[in-house]
Amino acid sequence: MKKKIIIIGAGLGGLAAGCRLAAAGHTVEILEQRSTIGGLAATQHIGDFEVEIGPSAITAPALVEDIFQAAGKPLPEDLQWLPVAPAYRVFDHQLRSFNIKFDQQFLVEEVQRWDANETSACQEYLKNIHPFFSPKFQDLSDLPFLHPLSMLKTVPDIIRLRGLQSTYSFVSQYFNDPFLRAALSLKPFLMGSNPMEVNIFTSLNMQMRDAKMMYIVGGTGTIIKHLAKLFQELGGKIHLKAEVVEIISRHRQVSGVRMKDGGLHPADVIISNANVADTYDRLIKQRNANRLSRKKAARQNFSSSIFAIYLVTSRRYLDTPLAHHNVIVPRNFPKLLEGIFHRGVLSSDPAISLHMPSRTDNTPAAADREVLMIHMPVPNLTAEIDWSSQARPLREQVLSFLEERFLPDLRASIVVEKVLTPEDFHENFNAPFGAPFSLQTSPFQAAWFRPHNRSKQLKNLYLVGAGTHPGPGISAVLSSAEIVEKLIGSA
Ligand SMILES: Cc1cc2nc3c(=O)[nH]c(=O)nc-3n(C[C@H](O)[C@H](O)[C@H](O)COP(=O)(O)OP(=O)(O)OC[C@H]3O[C@@H](n4cnc5c(N)ncnc54)[C@H](O)[C@@H]3O)c2cc1C
Repeated sequence: MKKKIIIIGAGLGGLAAGCRLAAAGHTVEILEQRSTIGGLAATQHIGDFEVEIGPSAITAPALVEDIFQAAGKPLPEDLQWLPVAPAYRVFDHQLRSFNIKFDQQFLVEEVQRWDANETSACQEYLKNIHPFFSPKFQDLSDLPFLHPLSMLKTVPDIIRLRGLQSTYSFVSQYFNDPFLRAALSLKPFLMGSNPMEVNIFTSLNMQMRDAKMMYIVGGTGTIIKHLAKLFQELGGKIHLKAEVVEIISRHRQVSGVRMKDGGLHPADVIISNANVADTYDRLIKQRNANRLSRKKAARQNFSSSIFAIYLVTSRRYLDTPLAHHNVIVPRNFPKLLEGIFHRGVLSSDPAISLHMPSRTDNTPAAADREVLMIHMPVPNLTAEIDWSSQARPLREQVLSFLEERFLPDLRASIVVEKVLTPEDFHENFNAPFGAPFSLQTSPFQAAWFRPHNRSKQLKNLYLVGAGTHPGPGISAVLSSAEIVEKLIGSA
């Protein structure tokens, strides 16, 4: 039956769900509080330049292409993917580098190059993780996990294969070198979660997605632009500066939303792309309707945050060992994790992630400029860090580190610059505790334990985006939209 659907938020999750449901024949409107669409996956203007806020590459071109296919539309011609290789280049403090891509033979060769004594450990490691790549464990993130029994089919096997062991401790069983232990545990860390807690099964699932790390020409903002265009072509409407303050319900069934300006929008179905904690804590006002979910939300662990510096420089950096995605790991990775996830302190030995898209897309427009995105994982706002006094010294620390080791004259070459602290992610993007990856992907916040894509509290309320199942990141968020489309069905 054709339904009137309201989507709260025009992030990647909201736009993808909007396209899918409009293509399925429903009447869909998206209400976005900001004056721009795309949320954390948007492109921001810094001076005259366009720079990604978040990811500068994606791992799921097929999930984007699927949306156009589902709508029966051809792929836009300017949607061009370029492979990012390696997926990551990881550096130690002596500037030795180690490349990561999703290829077993490649990993053995890199380990051998790094330290030949660790080669047999690497082969043993690969032998023991091999069963996790069986088809039986694939595509689990496409299932809705609405019932605890849905985990029974796979969890016993995952336990038998020691897949619930933490990523860092699993990797450390095989490798002695602290650098290799850190490099092979990085993936969950880069997605805001603690590799001491995320299990190896989940971590490998995240890594599997990196098998196809791609850069989209023009950046992720190009995907956002095309999804918005497709949505409107399918009859969908997007309202900007339209903040929803309440999800209205009658007899435990949604009936519409109330706007900040007092206006009402009736709806048969509501999909929230607002953060899941915000949805349950703030938008559902009815007592009892969300009691359980509110309690659950209060117990949730949020991801780490990011201290981000975006730069455009007046010169190119062609003669550095940097790749598209670079991660400089700290000397003491376990200590950094303890500081970020448990003690809530800033470290003098941080991890720095540096994106340099020109390594993949060297178009003439970028010929005499370098666009650099520097992301530093830091504690979220549950820690008592005074960002008004810490931001400047931290910026100096990071830029002087990069200048000394990789990017000569960096500070003198800056044309435009923007810094975002955890407080900015909280205030400008409604990210609770300034956590851009929403809830951590810990054992009790994954699959059935993660907030579901269909609310149990209110009928016809659905959730898409990073805080809900299957989790944060572009590919997981796109999967959440597909799950919600399947749960709602066609008109
Ligand atoms: C610095 C950084 C680096 C990242 N790196 C990576 C990476 O390498 N790989 C990767 O896969 N992912 C990465 N991510 C994460 C990725 O960007 C997010 O997981 C994804 O974009 C989240 O999309 P979403 O749709 O869940 O939510 P959001 O992007 O948060 O969108 C939610 C939208 O809802 C709107 N909204 C909220 N409340 C309301 C309301 N009450 N009324 C109306 N509108 C509302 C918001 O304004 C926003 O536009 C990174 C993010 C950041 C910030």
